[in-house]
Amino acid sequence: MADAREKNPGSSSPVEERDRGPAYPFKEMERRARARWREEGIFEIRDPMAAKRPFYSLNMFPYPSGDLHVGHGRNYILGDVVTRLKTMQGYDVLSPMGWDAFGLPAENAAIANKIHPAVWTKRNIARMKEQLISWGLAYDWNREIASCLPDYYRWTQWIFLQLYKRGLAYRAKSAVNWCPNDRTVLANEQVVEGKCERCGSPVETRELEQWFFKITDYAEALLNDLKLLNDWPEKVRVMQANWIGRSEGASIHFEVRGEDAIEVFTTRPDTLYGATFLVLAAEHPLVRKLHDAGKLQPDAAALIDRLRRQRVENRFAVDAEKEGFATGLMAVHPLTGKPIPIWVANYVLMGYGTGAIMAVPAHDQRDFEFATKYGIPIVEVIRPESGPGFDGKSAYEGDGRMVSSGPHDGLPSDEGKRAVIGALIQKKAGESRVNYRLRDWLISRQRYWGAPIPVVYCAKCGVQPVPESELPVLLPDQVEFKPTGESPLLSNEKFLAAKCPSCGGPARRETDTMDTFVDSSWYFLRFLNPKLETAPFASDAVNRWLPVNQYIGGVEHAILHLLYSRFIVKVLKDTKMVSFSEPFERLFTQGMITKDGHKMSKSKGNVVAPDRLIDRYGADTVRLYTLFIGPPEKDAEWNDRGVEGAYRFLTRYWKMIEEFLEATEDRKRRGGSKEASGSWSASGPARDLRRRVHEVAGQVLEDMDRLHLNTAVSGLMQMVNAVQDYGAAQGDMLVPEVAEAVDLATRLLGPLAPHTAEGAWERLGHKESVFRAGWPKVSPEALERSLERLVVQVNGKVRSQIEVPVGATAEAVRSAAMADPKVLKFTDGKTVAQFIQVPGRLVNIVVK
Ligand SMILES: [Zn+2]
Ligand SMILES: [Zn+2]
Repeated sequence: MADAREKNPGSSSPVEERDRGPAYPFKEMERRARARWREEGIFEIRDPMAAKRPFYSLNMFPYPSGDLHVGHGRNYILGDVVTRLKTMQGYDVLSPMGWDAFGLPAENAAIANKIHPAVWTKRNIARMKEQLISWGLAYDWNREIASCLPDYYRWTQWIFLQLYKRGLAYRAKSAVNWCPNDRTVLANEQVVEGKCERCGSPVETRELEQWFFKITDYAEALLNDLKLLNDWPEKVRVMQANWIGRSEGASIHFEVRGEDAIEVFTTRPDTLYGATFLVLAAEHPLVRKLHDAGKLQPDAAALIDRLRRQRVENRFAVDAEKEGFATGLMAVHPLTGKPIPIWVANYVLMGYGTGAIMAVPAHDQRDFEFATKYGIPIVEVIRPESGPGFDGKSAYEGDGRMVSSGPHDGLPSDEGKRAVIGALIQKKAGESRVNYRLRDWLISRQRYWGAPIPVVYCAKCGVQPVPESELPVLLPDQVEFKPTGESPLLSNEKFLAAKCPSCGGPARRETDTMDTFVDSSWYFLRFLNPKLETAPFASDAVNRWLPVNQYIGGVEHAILHLLYSRFIVKVLKDTKMVSFSEPFERLFTQGMITKDGHKMSKSKGNVVAPDRLIDRYGADTVRLYTLFIGPPEKDAEWNDRGVEGAYRFLTRYWKMIEEFLEATEDRKRRGGSKEASGSWSASGPARDLRRRVHEVAGQVLEDMDRLHLNTAVSGLMQMVNAVQDYGAAQGDMLVPEVAEAVDLATRLLGPLAPHTAEGAWERLGHKESVFRAGWPKVSPEALERSLERLVVQVNGKVRSQIEVPVGATAEAVRSAAMADPKVLKFTDGKTVAQFIQVPGRLVNIVVK
């Protein structure tokens, strides 16, 4: 049965009658404004080298996953405000958009629905582009790129080769998730609670030869240059610094009879005398050796098998139950010569540091918990200068003075660290070391939908990079997707067969594709010359336009995407292809929009689609509400009633424009001049209106520059209120103060509700687009208050009020106050002991 409302479309008007006023014709305005921007190319950069005042405004390019919701919209609308603001301020703004188009969902869709990933991706791009356009976003679509197209990924492969040439791309064994049932590698996203997403089998880890980028060579530069990024959110810089994780300490070698020495890294060499055992990761080479030789107890061997299958995150969780066993092997303490037992435990991982630690249970909580569980001795070696130290109930992790530490007793921690390192150096048992938590970037993916890694393997010559002239290594189109999820490249004979570029003999092509973070680590360079065929980018153009002046995106990319982009730019700088060392000058990370308290997701059923709202209220209403919903860096809750509020405001603004025009027309009919004319009023309501409008405008201008857009919107609301209040009280809109207010409000509205501002600007009789009209300034003279009123107290009691010119000197205020007849009554014949002034508010005369 049809919904009753559908029969009666006119009855469900979104606005209440009293707010109606003249209609707000958003549909017509949107159409006209967009056609104009397109025809005049207002947001296009024709020649990047000809731009006089370049400003690069960029949103993180999206993964084409399908429909966008209003939460995604926030990101793009914020970026659009910047683009339009900077355009109005007279910059040549580059505002491109593209697609981070490789990745797993397309491949999963291909397997599930028998659609080729390219088709699925293309369809989603078309849909999302339509949505972006419906928000009225000002992108230069001539510069559109998609990372899955050969003319783009050719250059991703080229960048791989540059890293390879510099020794920054290498092959090494590394663990992957393996489904024993499907006999295929799984991406991390395909492992759910340790099980295969497809078939539910417990996931195992397997060692595969994979490709890495040596980002660790740049650890120090990536950390130090965070200091240059003053216009990044502090929290993002902290996250990056923590991820890089620089720590100073010592590398210590523990001898093991009959085996290789065990190397550990510690930031606390001052606790070395308290090391009562060593702990190895299950993947440590020594454990592997013992395991393979069958030298472990059966339950220990079983634990190792289990640990190796467990996902890294699960093992590293702070609250995970600590488990382990003693290997029976002993190491030698490098300073005391005492034997120390070697254990294996789940809380030490191979991927971090050396896969071995010295355990100091009195001064490390995790070691303490493990030692307590297994009855291993605990020795206190650091005592705080004051306050409680190690109490036997939990570890004391702070600094202090060394105790039970032989010749080093009594040294404070910092001095102790240096002394212990000195002793280790003398015995050739260690040295000082700076350690980074950052690991090399594993770029191999055993998937189809990615950029093929451009190398071949020759039986005679080994690993051979594909010559640059032979790029791109094309991803074959005709492939068969296996239900197991195995990469179709593995069984594609045509793809596999290659010629060795060195000896000309037969070779096998690499079947791994690149992590999509490689695609997105350089795309911002491509936008300057997106169709360039001779290079990934033109150096002169990127040097002119980069670093990106304003980058906007989600905080979920605060670590990896930004770190990898910074790394690639630093490598390109070292190859002299770019002249800058950081890609993004100013970064803004927007907060999430929630619905019913949760992140929007299809599975929760709380997704708010923009399409219906845009159709019903117009794009500017949705934009304005999105900006008004709260400080853009904070999370905010979506509320459909708020959308109506934004609609009412735009209707009110439109009504103000219409009323102003009507008054002008009226005057014209009666034979007056068309324009409101005359000079500024020196006092009275018109003068007050002008001051008020300029005060608010000043705040709006500042707010926009700082992206405090929610308060910018409320400032505009105040401006419209001020004009309407004036009109209602005076019954006259034809004063220059109103004309000026209407002009100011319309220009300020431009970046926020662009179609409406453009429509109004045209109605006001301007020939040029509002985005070419320039950005307004506040007039200092309009802000001036000519007289101000001060309260006059005598001995703390209010006796009178006086008016003085604003900015009058203390002397002038004093004479005015003392001359006031009402004041004189209380001061005459007395001595003034004190004269106190609170500027702009009051004076207090103390008499005796
Ligand atoms: Zn499976
Ligand atoms: Zn060869």
